[in-house]
Amino acid sequence: MKRILGLKIDVDTYEGMKKGVPRLLESLAALKVKGTFYLSMGPDASGLAILQLLKNPRFLKKMLKSNAPALYGIKTALYGTLLPSPLIALSFPDIVTGIIAAGHEVQFHAWDHRRWQDSLSRRSEGWIRAWFDKGLRAFRDVTGRSATSFGAPAWLIDDRALRIAGGHGFSYLSCTRASEPFLHELIGVPEIPSDLPCFEELGITAAGEEIILRLKGGGIHVLPVHAEVEGGAWNQPFLDLMGIIRGMDCEVRTLGEISADLAPQGLPRRKYELAFLTGRAAPCAV
Ligand SMILES: [Zn+2]
Repeated sequence: MKRILGLKIDVDTYEGMKKGVPRLLESLAALKVKGTFYLSMGPDASGLAILQLLKNPRFLKKMLKSNAPALYGIKTALYGTLLPSPLIALSFPDIVTGIIAAGHEVQFHAWDHRRWQDSLSRRSEGWIRAWFDKGLRAFRDVTGRSATSFGAPAWLIDDRALRIAGGHGFSYLSCTRASEPFLHELIGVPEIPSDLPCFEELGITAAGEEIILRLKGGGIHVLPVHAEVEGGAWNQPFLDLMGIIRGMDCEVRTLGEISADLAPQGLPRRKYELAFLTGRAAPCAV
């Protein structure tokens, strides 16, 4: 079976946008592959994660295990608490233009990534609507185009969020960690999930082995990448892994290209579920 890999590159933080994206653009150019960047447009409130430490023992374990302070930086850890939240993609229109000019796909990830991730279930529908409106307007302002896909922060959705996303006319979503593409029952929109593990979930070696093994089996796969991680401290392991993948007769495509090749009527139609994945502090949609 043909091997197809999509790179879903999430930009979650100010540092990830400023330093991680330019570095990843160099990496992708050297590898001669195109990826799909999901941009967080608005405030970087990463510092709120510190408050989560006090409430969630699984989160603390994840932060310590992945050595988050080294991966994400001390300053990032204070945004939104002791330091004001800087805006993420809105602060770097030239970098966004550079992503597009290099031939990569750009799509919408978030207005305020952290607050969605930490508090979606407690927010009103009005808050969710305003979150999309602000984020999508910012996306249009910076890219000069409308987003045709949404990738939910932390792969967290609920029915309200999905219905609101459905109202924005996205041609496909990438909001889950399911094992294969499906049609979201609630809104009839195709889902191109990230089915492979992240480096920070399993560790570099175990994640690398799992990714290669899954790719060897053929079919469509999507690797979730984080600009602040693979464009930061773990850039070299990412290059090493991609080097192996490039030697494997595996076609690297954008998620938009993958989605365009799928016949939606042939996809299973179902509702997402929430599940705890290895190495993640909170449940993800699958
Ligand atoms: Zn994210």
